[in-house]
Amino acid sequence: MSAILLRVRNLTKKYNGFTAVDGVSFEIREGEIVSLLGPNGAGKTTTIQMLLALVSPTSGDIEIFEKNLKGHREELLSRMNFTAPYSLLPYNLTPKEGLTVFAFLYGVRNYKQKVKFLLDEFGLSELVSKKIGQLSSGEQMRLGVAKAFVNNPKLLLLDEPTASLDPPTARELRAKILKLIRESSGAVLWTSHNMREVEAVSDRIIFLSRGQIMADDTPRNLKKRFGQEDLEEIFITIAKEPVSESS
Ligand code: ADP
Repeated sequence: MSAILLRVRNLTKKYNGFTAVDGVSFEIREGEIVSLLGPNGAGKTTTIQMLLALVSPTSGDIEIFEKNLKGHREELLSRMNFTAPYSLLPYNLTPKEGLTVFAFLYGVRNYKQKVKFLLDEFGLSELVSKKIGQLSSGEQMRLGVAKAFVNNPKLLLLDEPTASLDPPTARELRAKILKLIRESSGAVLWTSHNMREVEAVSDRIIFLSRGQIMADDTPRNLKKRFGQEDLEEIFITIAKEPVSESS
């Protein structure tokens, strides 16, 4: 079996007595594409922010590449990357300048080559004279994903990476993400509200509801378990289920 890149145990986050993430445990192995799903407020963003060390857990453990995130923050984050609607890009720079800044931050050696590759790969080469702040939301989203690949991450966390894209652009971007992550034998944990997208790419789906994991399985097994072909219906069923009393 392939190596475990991420291991989360009993992860919990409380805000003033309110439990946003409640004893979550899961693993992600090399090569896996895992979707983190759940209704608004389920705890997806809080989970991802804890994995990025942006939010500190109230309790529980996060191990990445077999090391605890607590004691190895910088080392681990240098081999990960992310994009999210809340990750702001430098508005006054062009896409090329912006990617170059990130390449420097991650200490990318052959940065010129890397930046050119990413601009080409994500269809951003034409936007040479535009500032990032002038780009459309779809272009900014593509740039956000390009930025996420600047350090050849082994673990990629993507919070709704295709949210504001039209269907063909979203499909193209998905294909690029999968191609690049497979080339580096990495893994992806992403969130999406687009069930067709989730079905098309996920090796596994983790459903969160009210901070707890309600299901963690392959799309195929989930369909079998719920006797339902439509992932969206499964999503709605799980979101309505009461959180189990034992948890
Ligand atoms: P999701 O990404 O699944 O929509 P979030 O992780 O953003 O959910 O939020 C989970 C819950 O935690 C929500 O009820 C949200 O209001 C709450 N929450 C998130 N961040 C904070 C915060 N900084 N302070 C208080 N409550 C928060």
